Amino acid sequence: MIKTLTNTVLTIFFGTCLISCSVSRSIIDRPIEFDEERITLTKEYLSQRYNLDQDSPKIVPKMIVLHWTVIPTLEKSFEAFKNSTLPNWRPDIKNVSGLNVSAHFLVDRDGTIYRLMPETTMARHVIGLNHCAIGVENVGGTDELPLTRSQLKANIWLVNYLASKYDIEYLIGHHEYKSFEGHPFWLEVDKGYRTEKTDPGEEFMKKVRRASKKFNFKPIPEK
Ligand SMILES: [Zn+2]
Repeated sequence: MIKTLTNTVLTIFFGTCLISCSVSRSIIDRPIEFDEERITLTKEYLSQRYNLDQDSPKIVPKMIVLHWTVIPTLEKSFEAFKNSTLPNWRPDIKNVSGLNVSAHFLVDRDGTIYRLMPETTMARHVIGLNHCAIGVENVGGTDELPLTRSQLKANIWLVNYLASKYDIEYLIGHHEYKSFEGHPFWLEVDKGYRTEKTDPGEEFMKKVRRASKKFNFKPIPEK
């Protein structure tokens, strides 16, 4: 009897934890600069790169792109995205647009999720697809600082949150973006504007995909 009671109590305890632990995760808003200059540059980017002339830099999210920053700390990663214009250390893409890179979310090493900008405003994080892609950046990602289990869990949670909120068709890693050349979503006008990406890697994507099966995301297009 006592044993049964203990089991029941334990079941209720863990059952409650499973529910409350899954919903207790929260998103912390930590906005990057989004002044008139950034708005203008974002609209310019949509127009020049994608031939999309819009009154506002709004997007309709259709895919989620996961990344790593390589930058080892939250603060330095935040700094990289904060300003409206590209800093001098990225002159390689400055001639394409002065708009600074960013992402909608930044996940710290301990799994804390920061929202850097509104989910339906365009961020510059993936060539060809920014007009429909929500970007999730993870702090770190080098061989010395691989993404953590806490970050993996946070990414899975975020994918669940976003796919429940928007009509998300694809979940991709940044390293897979070129597979979309020729896809109706691919709008980049310059055939020569491409960068090589390895983030966040096959292993990380495999784990997030396995945990997000219920959404039935479409497979990456064959090239
Ligand atoms: Zn990336």
